[in-house]
Amino acid sequence: MNPVARMKSGALPSQTDAAPGFHPGYEEALLTVTDLVKHYRLPRESLLSPPPIVHALQGVSFTLEAGRSLGIVGESGSGKSTLARLVMALEAPTSGRVTLLGRDLHALPHRELREARRDFQMVFQDPYGSLDPRQRVQQIVTEPLPPLPVRERRQRVAEALDAVGLRPADADKYPHEFSGGQRQRIAIARALITRPKLIVADEPVSALDVSVQAQVLNLMQDLRAEFGIAFLFISHDLAVVDHLCDEVAVMQAGRIVERGTPERLFRHAEHPYTRALIDAVPQPGTPGRRALRAGGASSRVASTFPDQESPR
Ligand code: ADP
Ligand code: MG
Repeated sequence: MNPVARMKSGALPSQTDAAPGFHPGYEEALLTVTDLVKHYRLPRESLLSPPPIVHALQGVSFTLEAGRSLGIVGESGSGKSTLARLVMALEAPTSGRVTLLGRDLHALPHRELREARRDFQMVFQDPYGSLDPRQRVQQIVTEPLPPLPVRERRQRVAEALDAVGLRPADADKYPHEFSGGQRQRIAIARALITRPKLIVADEPVSALDVSVQAQVLNLMQDLRAEFGIAFLFISHDLAVVDHLCDEVAVMQAGRIVERGTPERLFRHAEHPYTRALIDAVPQPGTPGRRALRAGGASSRVASTFPDQESPR
């Protein structure tokens, strides 16, 4: 079996996965988020005043089916990253539930959560800060894997690098030897290596040059088609989610105020906040941005700089 076919077979949802906390019927949705609330208590401003509380999430609910992609958009401070951290079980909610493959993530014992983590991985915004500069790509990419025989580990690295358009020889290099777009490919390879069912990507192209954004977006689009991975794709940029997502949820002040297909939202947004977001999208000033806007949900993003950073 070739590497891609092997990863593909490994990425198929396992319907017999009788994990702890398993509930029959989970196949209805891969991910269910129920009434998620997160409050942050800030330091007191004075001895007598109560600590101010930030209501980062005020009751967020949604479902995501296997292999689908949901975009989360909203202005800065609307709670998108908080939602991502809670879905990833990196932080506990004040109340509410996150259920993945029938398992209530925030109720799982530590060891089971560690195992469950293989089913969901994250790609962060900053491809510079999120890779340890002292580690070789091989080490970085295998970090989420359980202990495996050396040969299998090497094989998995080669498959993951191949899937993101990098070379097997790149495994021995350090992050500083790569450009921003290539680093984000390394981060995506790390997310892929466990053959997850869900990837949460928080502003994954915001730190990249417009000229390479399209290539990274196309890569994620291809991976979704190839491996059937579901994406929760967070962006402040409507043009990005328009291209990549089956559906978009609009967040404002810790709540989802509207959800729909990108086409519907762009044409007939019902909520005034959605309208305001759409109106705030910068009109084509740069060729890359125009290409994104023209992309549409099902087409590939046209890269206006084909020679830069093309996958090797
Ligand atoms: P977004 O990703 O949409 O920009 P965030 O989820 O980062 O929004 O933030 C939502 C709100 O929660 C903001 O008001 C932010 O200041 C606050 N917030 C986020 N994380 C923390 C934290 N660890 N401590 C205190 N406040 C936080
Ligand atoms: Mg954020």
